Amino acid sequence: MTDTAEPILDLRTLSKTFGEVQALNGVDLKVQPGEFVTVVGPSGCGKSTLFNIVSGLEEPDSGSVLRFEGRSVMARDLLGKVSFMPQRDLLLAWRNVIDNAILPLEIEGANRAEARREAERMLPEFGLAGFAKQYPHELSGGMRQRVALMRTFMFKRDLMLLDEPFGALDALTRSMMQRWLLDVWQKHRRTVLFITHDVDEAIFLGDRVLVMTARPGAIKLERKVDLPRPRGADLVTSPEFIALKRDLLDAIEEESMKTFGPNPH
Ligand code: ADP
Ligand code: MG
Repeated sequence: MTDTAEPILDLRTLSKTFGEVQALNGVDLKVQPGEFVTVVGPSGCGKSTLFNIVSGLEEPDSGSVLRFEGRSVMARDLLGKVSFMPQRDLLLAWRNVIDNAILPLEIEGANRAEARREAERMLPEFGLAGFAKQYPHELSGGMRQRVALMRTFMFKRDLMLLDEPFGALDALTRSMMQRWLLDVWQKHRRTVLFITHDVDEAIFLGDRVLVMTARPGAIKLERKVDLPRPRGADLVTSPEFIALKRDLLDAIEEESMKTFGPNPH
């Protein structure tokens, strides 16, 4: 991977306005094939809006430029071209694990029996062996997130968008899931764009961390994460990690202050 390679995703001056509310203001963002890029920013800064555009659910304002795999595209051209895990996991309560996992393939018109067999094969890798027939209410929060992730991985697109997938998990489950996700990512070699509001998570997972400004969102700061892979739990106490965290936290705090003011009470 070099800086001169053709980016898989290239956004320029991307803006989005909803009526009176400007959510995004001039986002410039390039993602190289195979990269794991994490995006962190204050609540309400437009992170999910950015993903809704890249997944083809919303069109940006005119003047925004989207390039995907070297071609200039409309947002709607990207519908079905990227795998997207929205912020809410949206498992269907009346479908079991397997049938939730194959949903996007089914919508796409894939052979259902074949998709089910493939999902069965993937269960152990996603920590779901023996859970094929369970329904979402029978699963823990971590397991539900793994079903949603398995669904996203099964929809085999080069670019994967994950919107705060671990946001609702307790700290212990969350750090286990982070290590597990890196293992799965290393096996499948996808390009990942990952939203989080957690700086530790952003550094631990990413090749590169992008910090967004307060709304209207733009990219405020970008830092490469020069930490070796595979990454283990002890990484978070290394001096390199802590220095980078300090740097990023300063930028995020500056932006959060704009939203909430210096005194949160
Ligand atoms: P984040 O994911 O960073 O928390 P969002 O992208 O969800 O932020 O929201 C950014 C801003 O855009 C918020 O002020 C939100 O209320 C607004 N917004 C998002 N989607 C819509 C929509 N479909 N219609 C109107 N306003 C929206
Ligand atoms: Mg969001």
